[in-house]
Amino acid sequence: MKHIIILGDGMADHPVARLGGKTLLQYADKPYMNMLACKGRTGRLITIPEGFLPGSEVANTAILGYDLNRVYEGRGPLEAASIGYDMQPDDFAMRCNLITLSNDIIKNHSGGHLTTDEGDILIKYLNDKLGNDKIEFITGIQYRHLLIIRGGNKHIICAPPHDHPNEQWKELMVKPEPGWEDKHDGKRMTAKETADLINELILKSHDLLSRHPLNQNRKAKGKDAANSIWPWGGGYRPDMEKLSDIYPQIKSGSVISAVDLIRGIGYYAGLKIIKVEGATGLADTNYEGKAEAALKALKTDDFVFLHLEASDEAGHDGDLELKLKTIENLDSRIIKPVYEEIKTWKDDPVCMAILPDHPTPVEVRTHVKEPVPFIIWYDGITPDDVKTYDEVSCVNGSYGMLRLDEFMKTFMKY
Ligand SMILES: [Zn+2]
Repeated sequence: MKHIIILGDGMADHPVARLGGKTLLQYADKPYMNMLACKGRTGRLITIPEGFLPGSEVANTAILGYDLNRVYEGRGPLEAASIGYDMQPDDFAMRCNLITLSNDIIKNHSGGHLTTDEGDILIKYLNDKLGNDKIEFITGIQYRHLLIIRGGNKHIICAPPHDHPNEQWKELMVKPEPGWEDKHDGKRMTAKETADLINELILKSHDLLSRHPLNQNRKAKGKDAANSIWPWGGGYRPDMEKLSDIYPQIKSGSVISAVDLIRGIGYYAGLKIIKVEGATGLADTNYEGKAEAALKALKTDDFVFLHLEASDEAGHDGDLELKLKTIENLDSRIIKPVYEEIKTWKDDPVCMAILPDHPTPVEVRTHVKEPVPFIIWYDGITPDDVKTYDEVSCVNGSYGMLRLDEFMKTFMKY
């Protein structure tokens, strides 16, 4: 049997007074999710391991069955994979923001909303001036780029710049983890050497970028200058086995997502990254294109991970109406066309799972660490008694409460 996971990022929620105490999944008009809950089996899943924050990269990695304690390396390595950089064993990959420093403070984490073309010019300039056999700057998207330090040590403390607006930047510079100052981590440089190197790059980049004509131009137009790098979220190449090595029935698989981190997880899991034109990660995404791409991939692959980001973004915005719309869109524009097609594949049956990675409740506006409801359906599965798909009904689902890799193990048994 083939397998598809349809994941609505951040889709689960809390009861909302404006909806008469219902959750968004309870309130939304979503006939296909309810029909699949009726025909299939349901349960709840804990997606965040003990000791981890409820990040999407953590939850999605756990849903695919990996042990976060063993494979978690942070954001840098996932974004490296997503932009096509093949990390080597001694690489240390960091997310490298282009940010705006104003006197002593971090004015913004995005270089005043830089475009990708502008970012590319500045990153290539930095690589020209500061790159060498140990240091490489690689262009990503907008203000989000990549810094590779060959032999860099990951035992350092970095400050994600979006968490520290208007704070004194010199106090936020990189420090070695206590106890790691003079330690090497294999053949790598020490943590202190790594921290010193990154801090030196920050200072030099600030000097170079402040004088760059592109930034002079931005300032003349009243825009913020992208006048410094700010590296964070570093890690080594994740030690992830391919899904095809773990589950023999997966001979080839694909990931479809607009989000870098999810594409990166897919890459290390051995999945092909399928890019869909018009996939934005927002409510205006190309739903039909993604459904079509998933069905096309299922013709040749045994496994597809189809990820939709829109509900999470609506949750972060605290936009109740928009989040309801994203749930209804997932139902009518993804699940409906996928289900209607695969139910006719009698000789090539497909098992489908539907779930979020974590709740992003509209009244909390950030991710919370709570279990999520899920459905598993294939033509012929013995249904349980749950008739609708939501946070409350799935409490009575026949799978009960699964933890982490138990979901993937259960799903792949079919
Ligand atoms: Zn998420």
